[in-house]
Amino acid sequence: MNIHEYQAKAILRKFGVPVPDGHVCYNGASAREWAKRLGEGPWVVKAQIHAGGRGKGGGVKLAKSASEVQLIARDMLGMTLRTHQTGPEGKVVHRVLVENGCNIARELYVSLVVDRNSSKVAVMASTEGGMDIEEVAAKTPEKIFTETIDPLVGLTQFQGRKIAFSLGLEGKQVGKAVKMLEALYTTFIACDCAMLEVNPLVVTAEGELLALDAKFGFDDNALFRHLQIGDMRDFDEEDPNEIEASQHDLSYISLTGNIGCLVNGAGLAMATMDIIKHYGGDPANFLDVGGGATIERVTEAFKIILSDRNVEGILVNIFGGIMKCDVIATGVIQAARQVALKVPLVVRLEGTNVEKGKELLAQSGLDIVAADGMADAAQKIVMAVSAKGGRA
Ligand code: ADP
Ligand code: MG
Repeated sequence: MNIHEYQAKAILRKFGVPVPDGHVCYNGASAREWAKRLGEGPWVVKAQIHAGGRGKGGGVKLAKSASEVQLIARDMLGMTLRTHQTGPEGKVVHRVLVENGCNIARELYVSLVVDRNSSKVAVMASTEGGMDIEEVAAKTPEKIFTETIDPLVGLTQFQGRKIAFSLGLEGKQVGKAVKMLEALYTTFIACDCAMLEVNPLVVTAEGELLALDAKFGFDDNALFRHLQIGDMRDFDEEDPNEIEASQHDLSYISLTGNIGCLVNGAGLAMATMDIIKHYGGDPANFLDVGGGATIERVTEAFKIILSDRNVEGILVNIFGGIMKCDVIATGVIQAARQVALKVPLVVRLEGTNVEKGKELLAQSGLDIVAADGMADAAQKIVMAVSAKGGRA
């Protein structure tokens, strides 16, 4: 799960990481009032969307007076902001952050991530702040400094100083950086983060260190113990189909192709997408109905797949282990009837009660193509979709 910048800054503030004072606003008038309360200006108005690159896309603007804050906020709210991270369709801005502007001397980069190779948290730091870190990593990897943290010891002062030196900090700034890094690490562990990025971390003209932008990624499996963080979820920022799917315990990720996939098990779902690609097709989604899928869940899964207007055919690929093939077959039949299925449907079943499942499908009277094995199934759906050439 992701959160907005203003929410990220509220969490950081709580853990003692210095951030500029600011407030989230939903209309121009309140933006103006908050600007006056925050101080003398200048202020920065920042579009709150779950995507970076706002600066370049016109989502971060400087204002010199409170009335300018109001005008900028009014224009920004409701606009569709396009950045290199939103895709061409962009994202509608529903909230803005009004915060005190600061005098930037240097823009640095710091992030914490779970490093899968070492199974530890890694701190990455770079003097190239404010830029896309992917670009820095690709063009000048030597400018990224990495320090791995021992989970039993935590981030030591020695490591903090090493990171601070790698950022070219000197004198009093080193101590400030160490404190800030310790606070960031504490935040990361306390909130069960998957990643925490501060880009830029700035040194101000007055020599202070501030987190000017912050991005969190949380481990969804740990969210149950962070109710306050869970409440920060903004459904406006998520794909409506993915929200619907998560409410039915389905793992669904929409993709750009035209073949809908209904599969049980993440590994089988990945393999199904691969084999569709192998035979020249393009999957419309990743969908794992899980081990204990019921008829209702299979029906929901069908509805979600079909609500994607790009879907021109569906491949059901189920291995009945815990799940019995006859249950899946009943679900498929019921769902196909309920949604009045108009696109080709290929079903491959294997495992417990497979014969019974196949029998149910054959007797259903529905136009279902039975397949034997993954390759056969993939070829059949790819052929059906290309023969059809569009949705009826
Ligand atoms: P994004 O990463 O989406 O582009 P940032 O929050 O990093 O958005 O802002 C982009 C740039 O805008 C920063 O690199 C910084 O130069 C400037 N900026 C952002 N917030 C402030 C602020 N409070 N005061 C001064 N400049 C700011
Ligand atoms: Mg940024």
